[in-house]
Amino acid sequence: MQCPYCQQTMRRGKATLERSLGGKLLGEGNLSMLRFTPKRGERAELLDAAGTREAHFCDDCGTAVIRGVLADEQVQRCPACNETNPPNYEACWKCGAPL
Ligand SMILES: [Zn+2]
Ligand SMILES: [Zn+2]
Repeated sequence: MQCPYCQQTMRRGKATLERSLGGKLLGEGNLSMLRFTPKRGERAELLDAAGTREAHFCDDCGTAVIRGVLADEQVQRCPACNETNPPNYEACWKCGAPL
C-alpha cells in the first residue's frame, strides 16, 4: 500500500491498543477505544483494547491506515490462526497458510 500523503510504500502490520505504564500504575480501567470522529456525522469505532486490526504505517511521514471494526465484514479469516486478512489475499499475512 502506498501512503496517501507522500506516496511512499507503507509497512504492513497490525494496530493494537496498549496501556501505558502510567495508566497501569494509576489503575485506569478498560477505557481504551480508538475512534474516528468526523466533523459531522457518525463516529466510527476503529479498535478496542481487546482487538488487533490490520494496519499500514508510513515511516516517512507517520501516517497510519487502520482497518476498522466495520471492515470485519469484508475480511477473510485464516483457517490456521484465525487472523483477519484482506479479501484479495491468497495467503495469511501472519502465518502464511493458504486462505
Ligand atoms: Zn507518508
Ligand atoms: Zn494465519
